[in-house]
Amino acid sequence: MDDMALKTYREKRNFSRSPEPTGDDAVVRARQATGRQPRFFCVQKHLATALHYDFRIEHDGVLLSWAVPKGPSINTADKRLAMHVEDHPIEYGEFEGVIPDGYGAGVVMLWDKGTWTPETDDVDAALAKGDLKMTIEGYKLKGSWVLVRTKGWGARRPGEKPAEDGKSWLLIKHKDEWAGPIDITTFAPNSVKSGGNFKDILLTGAPDVWHSHKKAAGGTGGDAALRKIAEKVAALEEPAGEPIATAADAKPKAAKTRAATKNAGADVPAAPKPRVPKRGGAEVPAAPKPRVPKRGGAKA
Ligand code: MN
Repeated sequence: MDDMALKTYREKRNFSRSPEPTGDDAVVRARQATGRQPRFFCVQKHLATALHYDFRIEHDGVLLSWAVPKGPSINTADKRLAMHVEDHPIEYGEFEGVIPDGYGAGVVMLWDKGTWTPETDDVDAALAKGDLKMTIEGYKLKGSWVLVRTKGWGARRPGEKPAEDGKSWLLIKHKDEWAGPIDITTFAPNSVKSGGNFKDILLTGAPDVWHSHKKAAGGTGGDAALRKIAEKVAALEEPAGEPIATAADAKPKAAKTRAATKNAGADVPAAPKPRVPKRGGAEVPAAPKPRVPKRGGAKA
C-alpha cells in the first residue's frame, strides 16, 4: 500500500472545517493484515443528504467502504444495495460526531463495531471476483455475510452494454444462528459508542448546531448548512437514546441505564461494554453474545 491510499478520501474533505480524521500514512503501512485474521469492522449511520449506513471493513491498511442506503439486514431474504465508496482511514472507524459542512455534512453515529474475518485466504482475489464472504463479530451484526458485486441493472439482454460501473454490490446475510426476521436498524438504532441517537450526538458534539435550528424557527439567520442538519435531525422520529454520560457521572448512569434497558428487553448493544484487548494493534472487542430474539423483541 502506497501513500496515495487515502488520496480520494483526503481530496473530498476540508480538514480545517471537518472534525473527521485525516488518516496517518504510518497507520496505513503498519496495518497489513493478510489471510484469515480478524480485522476492524464498523458501520456508521450517517444522516447526510440522505440517511445511509457506511459499512467499513479493514483491509490493506484502510477501511474498504460501502454506503448502504437501507442499512444492513439480518434477514437472509434481504439483499441490501451497497455502493462502493472511497477507502477511509482506519482511524475513521471510531469517529462519531457532526460534520458541519462540505462533503458528508451531517451527523455520523458509530452504529456498530467489532471485527470481521475473511472466509477466504485471498481478500484481493475475492474483491476482484466480486464475491467476498466474511464472518462479522460486532455488537449488532454477527455471523456469516457476503458482499456480492452486481452485474449492473442493464446487463440482462444479450448484446446490450451493461450499466456496470463496478460500484454496486449487495450485502447479504447468510443463514445461521445470527440471522432472523428482525429489522436490526429499528431494533437497535443507537450508537455503540455513546449510546446516543442522532439528536444526542448533535447536542453533545455541536449544541450550537441544534440551537441554530431553534433560531431558524424564530426567523433569525445563521449558517444554512448547520440549520439544515439540525432540521433533518429534528424531523427524525428517533427512539430515545441512552443518555450520554459525562466523565463525572459515567458509572452510575451507565449502570442504571443498562438495568432499565435490560428490563425493557430493548436494545442489543445495551450489553455491558466489553473490554477491548489489543491484538496485533487491532482493536478486537471481546464478543458479547446477545442472542437476537427471533420475534419482534421484548423477552422480559
Ligand atoms: Mn456516508
